[in-house]
Amino acid sequence: MDIFNPGNQVEEKQTIDGLIKKISEYSPEDDFDIIKLAYDFAKDAHQGQKRASGDPYIIHPLATAYNLAEMKADLPTIAAGLLHDVPEDTKISITEIEHNFGKEIYSLVDGITKLGRLKYRGIERYAENLRKMFIAMAKDVRVIFIKFADRIHNLQTIEHLPRDKQKRIAIETLEIYSPIANRLGMGEIKHKLEDLAFKTLQPKEFNWVESLKKAPLSRQNKNIEKIKKIVENNLKKNNIKYESIHGRPKRIYSLYKKLLEKDRDINKIYDLIALRILVPDIQSCYTTIGIIHNHWAPLKGRIKDYIAAPKPNGYQSLHTTVFAEGGQIVEFQIRTMEMHEQAEYGIAAHWHYKEKGHLKIPKKHAEWIKELIKIQKNFKDNEQYLQKIKLDVFGDRIFVFTPKGDVIELPEASSPIDFAYHLHTELGKKIIGAKINDQIASLDTELKSGDLVEILIDKNRLTPNEDWLRFVKTKTAKDHIKSGLNKKTKKFLNLKSFK
Ligand code: MN
Repeated sequence: MDIFNPGNQVEEKQTIDGLIKKISEYSPEDDFDIIKLAYDFAKDAHQGQKRASGDPYIIHPLATAYNLAEMKADLPTIAAGLLHDVPEDTKISITEIEHNFGKEIYSLVDGITKLGRLKYRGIERYAENLRKMFIAMAKDVRVIFIKFADRIHNLQTIEHLPRDKQKRIAIETLEIYSPIANRLGMGEIKHKLEDLAFKTLQPKEFNWVESLKKAPLSRQNKNIEKIKKIVENNLKKNNIKYESIHGRPKRIYSLYKKLLEKDRDINKIYDLIALRILVPDIQSCYTTIGIIHNHWAPLKGRIKDYIAAPKPNGYQSLHTTVFAEGGQIVEFQIRTMEMHEQAEYGIAAHWHYKEKGHLKIPKKHAEWIKELIKIQKNFKDNEQYLQKIKLDVFGDRIFVFTPKGDVIELPEASSPIDFAYHLHTELGKKIIGAKINDQIASLDTELKSGDLVEILIDKNRLTPNEDWLRFVKTKTAKDHIKSGLNKKTKKFLNLKSFK
């Protein structure tokens, strides 16, 4: 298995022939003249310019276009990828691009140029940045794909930039780009962006994870080969015409986040390598999981049917974890080819199902984007707008409303108690009940984004309840409850001593 070295495409990436070869892998009948024209045009425009690395500038648009071809982009998008830095960095104007390449490519390059003028300047510019990203995406989602492809190459060559610039780009990638890639179901892009940004931001931690996983990975890898053979034989016996079975090592940043949850102990991580099985149809997915469970016992609570219940970003697969040969715990992911492309490239996977040159966006994504436009129209105010957007993009935070319409941000699964302490210590101390969306609710109810929460108080109440510590999520609530309880104990002791 070649999992340690997933292909070196540096050479191909740097030539127009390599680019065209890559496109013809998924679109052999296309006429590549427009790509060659865009390449010549960009090469002339950037003539004499150099990257920070000292390379001729054209290397960058070529690599961007190549990254787009890896996402199986359509020709106008790839042409726009080649031209994306022309209006910003050369004497050639956007009008000349329209004149030479027509309206569609013009509007893609224009979108990317406008987006490029935004520079991440920390949290205060964050809302504005997000808003512009979403507007661009709503206009034509392909602009965001070009931005991803551009960003991936910039991160790959980031060591030539000053350290503060490196940090800014890496933070922006983790805070804005990768959540959007995730929301669009583009798993491969998300992981690429995350690993590159992580490497830039925390090089020591990155190296630690990389060296930590080496030994267990190569140990498991040998075993995985055996397990793979057994699965292959069983599938053949049952006439399942699988398309491929391959081991997929966990990506570095995902592994890092999991390690932090598991006391930095790699032995507690069961899905260091997952075995991915691609089969022709949905029926075969279920038959295959049956065959696997017939051979090895599944771990409780680890069977997940994302085919019947897809993830919100459209991800579909069957997952299971089993006790396999030699006591090794192995995760399987079973899916069809179409599900696989969706998982890797999300909404971009639908590119080659296009009709008359137009990108056909699947309904659920189209609706999400429409929703964003609506939000954008309704919320002129940046702050409120940001809260609404985060509600969609950032899964681990929730946004709830006070009766006055203020938006309060809390961690996922927060309770009315967290909400009360967030607003005011007195409110936390005196809470006796809560109304969520006008319904009386118990104090341990998990709040959800969009809930309207009203706190009911008892003015005479002086101390919090110890039980609350079992379910509160915020540090503010925990600290206040504990200090409230300490005071109560002290008072009690004082009373006793007076008796
Ligand atoms: Mn660029």
